[in-house]
Amino acid sequence: MIQKKICLLGASSVGKTSLVKRFVEGIFSEKYLTTIGVKIDKKTLSIANKEMNLLLWDMEGNDSYNVFQERYLRGAAGYIIVVDQTRASSLLEGIDIHTLARQVTNCPAILAINKSDLLATWHLDDSEHQAYQNIFDLEFLTSAKTGKNVEQMFSSLAELLLKCEKNDITT
Ligand code: GDP
Ligand code: MG
Repeated sequence: MIQKKICLLGASSVGKTSLVKRFVEGIFSEKYLTTIGVKIDKKTLSIANKEMNLLLWDMEGNDSYNVFQERYLRGAAGYIIVVDQTRASSLLEGIDIHTLARQVTNCPAILAINKSDLLATWHLDDSEHQAYQNIFDLEFLTSAKTGKNVEQMFSSLAELLLKCEKNDITT
């Protein structure tokens, strides 16, 4: 069985835990429980007739109180930078985290612009959009609440990872 470690990264309360919950358990909760440290969930996907185990590492938020911990990324096959479309500062924080992550890994990276069910308070303009297309492998507008693009995001990432055979965790 192929196993891939995927890290969810981003500022606090952008929806990292909610995206994993939606994907793994199919549920959403308005209740906010801060993730302490790291929580690992598992989901098996069938991609191109191959079974793939995704190990989803849900990190606590990386804000000024939580220094980004590169060691979480050890062995990661890919990571998702989650930002909140109702909070512009979360994009800046996400990009900072992405820059730090890039110092330790070259694995595929996805940008998830989450909370797309709510009114956006910021947008990427054309030039920003192009810039982000160059630094992220894929970009998704997601909602952990409605489920929009959640399955698609994780399965597209899984397909991408299937093409890069390195970073497999063999069992
Ligand atoms: P984390 O700190 O990044 O893990 O964020 P959480 O997953 O704990 O979510 C923080 C808050 O945002 C919670 O109250 C969630 O219910 C809410 N939330 C997360 N994702 C969404 C979303 O897509 N839409 C809406 N409306 N709320 C969301
Ligand atoms: Mg969390």
